[in-house]
Amino acid sequence: MYKKYLFYTLCISLLIAGCKKEGNVGPLAGKDNAAFTSYENSFLEGFWKLNPDWATGVGYHKYDSLLLVPNDEHRQKLVNFAKLQIDSMARFEVNSFSDENRIDYRIMQNQMEYLQWQITQLKAYQWNPNYYNVTETFATILNEHYAPLAKRLKNFYEKMAGIPAYYKEAERQIKNPVPELTNLAVDEISGSLDIFEKNFADSLKKTTIAEPERKAMMDRAHATVETLKQFTEWLKALKSDHPRSFRLGKELYEDKFKYEIQSDLPAQKVFNAAMDRKRQLHKNMLKLSKQLWPKYFGKAVMPNDSLELIAKVIDTLSVKHTTPAEFQHTIEQLIPKLTAFVKTKDLLTLDPTRPLVIRKEPAYMAGVADASMSSPGPYDKEGNSYFNVGSLNGWSANKAESYLREYNQYILQILCIHEAIPGHYAQLVYANKAPSLIKSIFGNGAMVEGWAVYSEEMMLDNGYENDTPEMRLMWYKWHLRSVCNTILDYGVHVQNMTKEDAIKLLTHEAFQQKAEAESKWVRVTVSSVQLDSYYTGYKEIHDLREAYKEKAGEKYTLKTFNEKFLSYGNAPVKLIREAMIGKN
Ligand code: ZN
Ligand code: ZN
Repeated sequence: MYKKYLFYTLCISLLIAGCKKEGNVGPLAGKDNAAFTSYENSFLEGFWKLNPDWATGVGYHKYDSLLLVPNDEHRQKLVNFAKLQIDSMARFEVNSFSDENRIDYRIMQNQMEYLQWQITQLKAYQWNPNYYNVTETFATILNEHYAPLAKRLKNFYEKMAGIPAYYKEAERQIKNPVPELTNLAVDEISGSLDIFEKNFADSLKKTTIAEPERKAMMDRAHATVETLKQFTEWLKALKSDHPRSFRLGKELYEDKFKYEIQSDLPAQKVFNAAMDRKRQLHKNMLKLSKQLWPKYFGKAVMPNDSLELIAKVIDTLSVKHTTPAEFQHTIEQLIPKLTAFVKTKDLLTLDPTRPLVIRKEPAYMAGVADASMSSPGPYDKEGNSYFNVGSLNGWSANKAESYLREYNQYILQILCIHEAIPGHYAQLVYANKAPSLIKSIFGNGAMVEGWAVYSEEMMLDNGYENDTPEMRLMWYKWHLRSVCNTILDYGVHVQNMTKEDAIKLLTHEAFQQKAEAESKWVRVTVSSVQLDSYYTGYKEIHDLREAYKEKAGEKYTLKTFNEKFLSYGNAPVKLIREAMIGKN
């Protein structure tokens, strides 16, 4: 059941999408889920052709050698593509779809509207010089072992051919850029030059590519470095009387929030909820701190100021931490502990056939000590999940001490819950069982981060570490980070929050170290909306669970909710909500 007037548009869209198997597309009856699946494939094929760097990033390597010139003509093609897809999709009778396809459909629709909005409204290509940082794609081609080295190096070489035209166009497009983003581009590009000279040369030596060809490849690499250097010099010399502010402003912010977070709520409402949450957390923290005071401070007088009192107790608890030498080992021991707890409390099923591999952080991830997940991409669902643990080797005693106080005995456990079990890693295993590529590729960050935050609280609510006042207080501190990320992002981009107020919020009200607060400030000046994902997703999942519980009545179990929720893959929470309990 599709609208007739769209038929012409549809034919064009399939041609553009490069679908060669016209016979398989068939009459595209609206009710036909299979027809939609086939449409999805042609949609993606067309999408990757126009976004080769993105394709490389998600593990689709057909267009690795392409570097498209970022000119008006290319953007017009993208806008046309989006319009054709929106028109083509309108012919489907979406209400007859399976939940799976209906969610895909809404994600694709949102993605196409977002694409149009980015080009016609946001226009980051004019004011964000870091938009033109292509070094990451080159690094991916060099570092990821998806194909034989010689083949990857040839693609690398061919892609470099596009560099001069690419940066010539970049210089034409950039007007009154945001100074913070200009600095970021200069730093990132300058810091990546090794990829083209040293790393590329080293890799070439490992192949049997013959000398004359090798020389041509190295010549082009040198020329690429020259172009990149010229571009950064050009950026540094750029004089602008009216540089654009890094603050997005209310209108663009609300729109970006709508497309990226895909919440039922507008950004303003989420901000208000975060403010309430902060007040509630402070209240709870004060109560716990007063309770803990005698245990740690005996008869000493409590500070009058409640935030000061909380800070003192947190400081004292932070002294309990592992050592630099034991850091990785401590994390390794935590994983089976978390797994056992999830099993004992029957929170959700953890698939024993998809174990988590804990490894030392690979060299190319730089020396930032941390614990993070590396997940297989959408096109490599069978790949391993790695829990990367950074090393504190070579750190000064002071630096290591400060880091370990931050990731103390309590917080390190919460970090492992968040990153691994039952946080990101467990969620990913479920997501990979959902067959949809669309949900993996256009995965919703608020759902993914929200689940990780939700899972921290769930563990404590179910008695993890006996939910001691110490553990709970430290979780509140950790959770304040997510809540204040939202307050900060909205405050800075919409309400003109000053740097001074921002640092005060993070250090005084969220108990963060000065260095952490400073780097968060830098992050909020070069990004927007992403920092909202943690708290927004958490809130939506939490609210959904309560609504689901009420609806399920006596049949409710936490495990059923968790597994049902995760079975939809990386979809926006509002769409999962519709599938689970219907519209509000
Ligand atoms: Zn210490
Ligand atoms: Zn996370």
